[in-house]
Amino acid sequence: MGGNRRGKDRLMTCVSCGRMVPRTKAVDYEKRSLFTTDLRDQENVTAFSTTTEYYCISCAKHRKIFEKKKQQAARAKERNQARF
Ligand SMILES: [Zn+2]
Repeated sequence: MGGNRRGKDRLMTCVSCGRMVPRTKAVDYEKRSLFTTDLRDQENVTAFSTTTEYYCISCAKHRKIFEKKKQQAARAKERNQARF
């Protein structure tokens, strides 16, 4: 027994600064990528990949994740900027 301090809160790693953040305080941000095989002869394969990244609150503010999430919700347009 003992050593069970962190049983409830799962810790997520902030992808920006690497800090460990409790899941309840981490800000999750869904990043979507689209993969396409540009083959003419064979079947064209399109695959979506959704990666969920977690940020600590300060990084989320700094990177304007909150605004991004609002924008994503507001306009459901698909305009993926492949900047990563
Ligand atoms: Zn961070």
